[in-house]
Amino acid sequence: MLFSKLLIPTLKEAPSDADIVSAKLMVRSGMIRKLASGFYEILPLGLKALRKIENIIRQELNAVGGQEMVLPLIFPKELWLETGRWSVYGKELFRLKDRKDAEFCLAPTAEEAIVDLIRKNIRSYKQLPIMLYQFGIKFRDEIRPRFGVMRSREFLMKDAYSFHVDEGDLDKYYKIMFDAYINICRRCGFKFCAVEAASGAIGGSFSHEFMVLANSGEEDIVWCKCGYSANSQKAESLKIEQLKEEFLSMTEVFTPNIGSVDDVAKFLSLSPDKFIKTMVYIADGNPIAVLVRGDHEVNEVKLKLLLNVSDLALADGQIVVSITGAPVGFMGPFGLKNIKIVADLSVVDIPNAVVGANKKDYHIKNVNYRRDYNVDLVADIRRIKHDDVCPRCKQEKLRFSRGIEIGHTFKLGTKYSKSMNAVYLDSNGKEKPIVMGCYGIGVTRILAATIEQSHDEDGIIWPESIAPFEVTIVPIDYADLRIKNVTDKVCEELSRKGLDVLIDDRDERAGVKFKDADLVGSPYRITIGEKNLINGNVELKSRRDKSSRCLKPEAAVSEILEIFPR
Ligand code: ATP
Ligand code: MG
Repeated sequence: MLFSKLLIPTLKEAPSDADIVSAKLMVRSGMIRKLASGFYEILPLGLKALRKIENIIRQELNAVGGQEMVLPLIFPKELWLETGRWSVYGKELFRLKDRKDAEFCLAPTAEEAIVDLIRKNIRSYKQLPIMLYQFGIKFRDEIRPRFGVMRSREFLMKDAYSFHVDEGDLDKYYKIMFDAYINICRRCGFKFCAVEAASGAIGGSFSHEFMVLANSGEEDIVWCKCGYSANSQKAESLKIEQLKEEFLSMTEVFTPNIGSVDDVAKFLSLSPDKFIKTMVYIADGNPIAVLVRGDHEVNEVKLKLLLNVSDLALADGQIVVSITGAPVGFMGPFGLKNIKIVADLSVVDIPNAVVGANKKDYHIKNVNYRRDYNVDLVADIRRIKHDDVCPRCKQEKLRFSRGIEIGHTFKLGTKYSKSMNAVYLDSNGKEKPIVMGCYGIGVTRILAATIEQSHDEDGIIWPESIAPFEVTIVPIDYADLRIKNVTDKVCEELSRKGLDVLIDDRDERAGVKFKDADLVGSPYRITIGEKNLINGNVELKSRRDKSSRCLKPEAAVSEILEIFPR
């Protein structure tokens, strides 16, 4: 393809609103343009890479029995009322009305639509299992659209849904899909890891996130040499063993205007791990007291799962006073009536702890679990922190990395089939709910994640598998007939074998073309100019390691064909 005929509007400088390397390079290389906040136009170069990613995913999903289809992008409200998600989804859901005032939403994901299809068309266990998938545009009114197509309000997602007779069959298929996802990540050339995204509180691992490792990632990942890895939001924490001490008698201490753990710890010359922080949360409308060690933080994701609530927020100051009798900073686990108390695993073993006295300006020393206070539930509800030990091998310290979530696999069980009454008849003619899994991949996010991982100061370095063009040919002067002939011949031979080749035929200085070739990032560049042609040679340059060699055009073609076997 000729550069001069394609819409590849490269730029020397990135626009000021491009906030991350990949967004800058995608705009500068002419892959995308921004229409409005979170809405992007994908230009021909971007689309070529996107289609290659799609094809990798398609091949891997077809290989595990997936059937491709297309669902609408607009869904009727009624379906979403059935699952309750019309209200649960909140402001991220784009809602609209038709001319008759009927309400709809733009697809943020498609469980309701696919379950509706299945409940109307699957009757018998003989039709199961089945896996359906699509490449569909998704709309989410993100609170903070940013990082280009990484977190946009309209994006391309591959969403897949599998349906099974029972949990056992789902478990088996989930593993197969997990492996397909691993293959997809490998083929896209990622340094990645699949992390557990389930809380230990629920038990077992029912959800995985596929994380591309990059410092710019929005997710914190923890991992261990032993193979354990998890999203830090969901990583299990171990109970911290405490040194045994003789229980001392409780003493009230005056702590005037000193409320924060650190300040009280200094004031009493004790370390923060001797403290118990008491907090009041409102969980689906009900107050609940939550206890964590002074140097720990509550993990609200874990707490939500444990309590099985969808809404969780810290109570405001007035509610705190009405429940504990003391302002924030002086709360403790004593005398809390009509309120459930949940404590983290590492709280109940603290000997001679310090707690708020539920009285302004007072704390109490030497408080001990069971002797002095009780709780309703003890569970892992804290955030993992830097010196924590791996919950699996219980030996190594956990390591922290940043990641970009590009895919998510999930065992849904009967969550949707129960609320939408999707059932099948088993071999005894008995009606049973269909068991379901769902599997998403952000296809446009993969584009951005690839560039985050693979670029240098000159531009993008495409992995061979998803480069929009495998080769860029730079004829120094395309108007020179000899140069043009060699260029066209090399291009033809590579294209005949199915490679995408870009010829920079523009009437520009060589320096400009080289800069754009680096920016656009094809894995190989062939430069064809008078100087080398005197000896019958062309120059072959690798984008990744920048090495270059002069060789005959035929040799360059056969080397490239070896690298990209078709
Ligand atoms: P995130 O935590 O990043 O918001 P999510 O948990 O909301 O992601 P899912 O609902 O699991 O995402 O969607 C499946 C995939 O879709 C994600 O793994 C991600 O790759 C992609 N994705 C989600 N939101 C966006 C977005 N706003 N822009 C681009 N891709 C997205
Ligand atoms: Mg999200």
